[in-house]
Amino acid sequence: MKEYNLTTKMRAYKWDELTEDQRALVSVAKEQTKHSYCPYSHFHVGAAAKLANGEVIRGCNQENAAYPSGLCAERSALFAAGAQYPDQPVERLAIACFTDGHFTKEPGSPCGACRQVMIETEHRYGGKMEVLLYGDEATYVFDSAADLLPLIFVSENLKG
Ligand SMILES: [Zn+2]
Repeated sequence: MKEYNLTTKMRAYKWDELTEDQRALVSVAKEQTKHSYCPYSHFHVGAAAKLANGEVIRGCNQENAAYPSGLCAERSALFAAGAQYPDQPVERLAIACFTDGHFTKEPGSPCGACRQVMIETEHRYGGKMEVLLYGDEATYVFDSAADLLPLIFVSENLKG
């Protein structure tokens, strides 16, 4: 038996420590929480994906009375990006959460399915996608979506 400790790298920034470009994208994600459709959870999530060509694609959670039919903000943004600009790598993804009248103090954490889609996005374009998780007290920055999901499952794994 061998035991492994898997580690990941994350940095926490105060708002004024982020770059101008990072703040701009997070601001879009925050704005996007206003368009969230979340009559069941009342948990508003906004996402913004910055593409290599400079375009910013917006997403927000879309809930449904048949719960599994809904979709998270991150995936709505990434799938829209893939649909509208299939040849453009996603360079950066920002996420913000709003509930009970304010943005969350701690950053919201993407669900497992969204992490898997982020990984596929990185592999699809062959580069890293920076991930910014906004919280009122700190924004967590990951250099790569892979830092959010150890032991990733990618297309090579299908080959056995
Ligand atoms: Zn999700």
